[in-house]
Amino acid sequence: VERTLVLVKPDGVRRGLVGEVLRRLEAKGYTLVALDLRVPDAELLRAHYAEHEGKPFFGPLVEFMGSGPVAAVVVEGQRVIEAFRAMAGATDPTAAAPGTIRGDLGRDWGTAATQNIVHGSDSPASAQREIALWFPHL
Ligand code: ATP
Repeated sequence: VERTLVLVKPDGVRRGLVGEVLRRLEAKGYTLVALDLRVPDAELLRAHYAEHEGKPFFGPLVEFMGSGPVAAVVVEGQRVIEAFRAMAGATDPTAAAPGTIRGDLGRDWGTAATQNIVHGSDSPASAQREIALWFPHL
């Protein structure tokens, strides 16, 4: 079966949305296999977002993601990568469809880094790479 890395970003943790994100994953029938709350250091965040290095939002994104605790979750189930991308909704929370996590719970706060509550791996290769970064023992 497939695994994905879900992150509840610092905005989601600050707003008390960890339970809501986990509730949606569990209600849809996926299995939580690892769960950790921590403030990620810049080295981890730069590796996690390596594909965005050089983009104008890279610095603000690393700063935002390190601004407080992040809930890191490994979730398992058939086609869970695709499913969580659909559950999260579009990157821009203003444009994200109602019914999605970002569409129901997110908005534009006018900050340099898009605060959109959650991250989910976008492919099996990304999931494997990201799970190894956040949970090296798994
Ligand atoms: P994630 O990978 O976090 O699930 P995503 O796949 O929807 O989000 P990516 O394009 O991979 O989005 O960008 C990663 C993150 O970088 C976004 O979730 C958002 O927080 C931030 N980001 C992306 N594009 C921009 C932008 N143009 N301006 C500011 N922040 C951005």
